[in-house]
Amino acid sequence: MSANEKELIRVEDLHKSFGSLQVLKGVTEHVDHGEVVSVIGPSGGGKSTFLRCLNLLETPTSGKIYFEGTDITDKNVDINLHRQKMGMVFQHFNLFPHMSIRKNLMCAPLLNKQGTKEEISKLAESTLAKVGLLDKIDAMPSTLSGGQKQRVAIARALMRNPEIILFDEPTSALDPELTGEVLSVMSDLAKEGITMLIVTHEIGFAAQVADKIMFMDKGYVIDYGTPEDVIINPKNKRIKTFLEKVK
Ligand code: ADP
Ligand code: MG
Repeated sequence: MSANEKELIRVEDLHKSFGSLQVLKGVTEHVDHGEVVSVIGPSGGGKSTFLRCLNLLETPTSGKIYFEGTDITDKNVDINLHRQKMGMVFQHFNLFPHMSIRKNLMCAPLLNKQGTKEEISKLAESTLAKVGLLDKIDAMPSTLSGGQKQRVAIARALMRNPEIILFDEPTSALDPELTGEVLSVMSDLAKEGITMLIVTHEIGFAAQVADKIMFMDKGYVIDYGTPEDVIINPKNKRIKTFLEKVK
């Protein structure tokens, strides 16, 4: 594979401002196919904004975002086509409370005419089995624990067979005893080779599971490299200080 074929996402000089507040100040990075990248850094540093720019939930102020070689910031590009290839898992699970788990999983694929109702229902079953919740398929969301809800949200993201899943602090709304089950599902996905970009405060998890760590602060990517280089033997003073605080 050439360098370009390896790249799933390439971001060039990405800027994002909200009014006079500059949140991203020129991010140039790439994510390769099959890589797990953890984005860490202090609160307010622009991590969520960066993630949301990648599927254009936020419109960048300037810069380019290439997804499989296509510049998705180009106004002529059908972003919905590309969004379908990017799953997103948020801190809050955003399940539809009035729908069973099966219906929550089937909803978007049905709308996108991804297959027949029977096919999509079967897919919901096999996908839910992957996150260990097949027995909950006909339950309502309110009967699930937070950890189980987040596992359903991950299954929902997997339903479209995405090229990448973007996670924004998937465990930070959970009680500590429930984070483990979610992180364990994410580790399993990493082993399957699914490309993932994960904003997280779980530094130990990031060090263990991620191929690369992206450290963001004040709108810049301060460092991007292996967990070994960025977390275990940090050279950068700002990163050292941050790691001391979160220990
Ligand atoms: P992080 O995820 O690293 O905590 P964010 O990307 O959420 O950082 O936020 C970076 C900065 O951008 C913060 O100062 C935040 O208040 C601001 N911000 C984020 N979203 C918006 C928005 N929609 N409107 C105005 N300011 C925003
Ligand atoms: Mg955030």
